[in-house]
Amino acid sequence: MNCDAFRTSYREMLGASIRANDVRRSDWNDHLHACDECSDWYQEQQVRDRGADPEKFPCVHVAYHATYKCSQHDDPWECPDYILVYSDKFDEYGIPIRDGGPSKIDIAFCPWCGLKLPPSKRELWFETLAAMSYDDPWNQDIPEEFKSDQWWRRSADDT
Ligand SMILES: [Zn+2]
Ligand SMILES: [Zn+2]
Ligand SMILES: [Zn+2]
Repeated sequence: MNCDAFRTSYREMLGASIRANDVRRSDWNDHLHACDECSDWYQEQQVRDRGADPEKFPCVHVAYHATYKCSQHDDPWECPDYILVYSDKFDEYGIPIRDGGPSKIDIAFCPWCGLKLPPSKRELWFETLAAMSYDDPWNQDIPEEFKSDQWWRRSADDT
């Protein structure tokens, strides 16, 4: 199977009508694993299918893993299928540690392509809120934009 055939049959392969042991299905899977370009392309499609914008992430690999959603578990700490967790309010990537708490190992580079990831905005989040007299943000009713990536995306657009 070549790259064109792989990409044009993407929708069909996601459909339930193709059985797992179908010969074309296994050819398609072989190509997915053998071809780096199509693997990146596949991840980008998946991110879009999830309703997210791959352009908002440093690379397609972290976009793919950060937007992953298990159909049975919302909490990445409850499900081994989540490889990466992303905090949009801190712009922070990490690998979940399932020791019973919500801890993670922060990562500075994409584990798949080595791209340098943006530095965490966790300290800036606290500093910015402190400057607005929110000195205990976990227990205060902070502005809505600080609960997501809005606060730093907006200031990044201004500059
Ligand atoms: Zn290919
Ligand atoms: Zn799960
Ligand atoms: Zn990457």
